[in-house]
Amino acid sequence: MAAHTATPSSSRIFIVSGPGGVGKGTIVNALVERDPQLWLSRSWTTRAQRTGERDTAYVFTDRAAFEARIAADGFLEWTDFLGNYYGTPRPEAVSGRDVVLEIEVDGARQVKLLHPEAVLIFVLPPSRDEQQRRLRGRGDAEDKVHQRLQKALDEEPVGMAIANHVVVNDDLERTVEEMMQIIGHHRVLG
Ligand code: ADP
Ligand code: 5GP
Repeated sequence: MAAHTATPSSSRIFIVSGPGGVGKGTIVNALVERDPQLWLSRSWTTRAQRTGERDTAYVFTDRAAFEARIAADGFLEWTDFLGNYYGTPRPEAVSGRDVVLEIEVDGARQVKLLHPEAVLIFVLPPSRDEQQRRLRGRGDAEDKVHQRLQKALDEEPVGMAIANHVVVNDDLERTVEEMMQIIGHHRVLG
């Protein structure tokens, strides 16, 4: 029988996507803390750093530097999200670790076209009201809250259509547990 080309130690791509404020960043931080085999890609963005946001959340950059990197083909995917650029630098060698991308739907679609084997987990809020509470609780300005809620109406049908798994982030611990199970399931599949 022909040998499987994918070995248990080969690198997989897990994409975590979903509307703003659903909890993606919180979830992926919990995942990488629990599972040392996961390697979280750090995106570039031209958005301003939020008050209280970690310096390591992104590579914060300006439009000129971002556009220079686009011209040099330095992104796996990139998009314009509500007026700012966001992009995934082409991943460095991560020797056997699984790559986690926390990105919005347009980027997820691009990665799935390039890497159909990538596993897309799309995260939904329990309700629009709860998403709104989370955005406000995080300190987003009122106009940003409104933009992100509006954007979610377009993002969710697309994300659900291309996702391998759809997860509702109700209770954080339960959600992280469900995601760990999904990741474990794909590792067993090889
Ligand atoms: P995203 O990365 O999807 O924009 P964040 O991870 O920044 O969202 O989460 C938005 C806010 O919601 C944060 O203040 C976070 O602490 C909170 N949050 C995340 N998951 C939950 C949850 N399951 N229950 C309640 N609050 C949550
Ligand atoms: P935020 O401004 O809330 O940090 O991010 C806005 C949106 O951009 C979120 O949905 C987030 O997942 C997404 N995002 C973050 N990094 C990237 C990236 O590298 N590429 C793409 N396409 N989206 C990203």
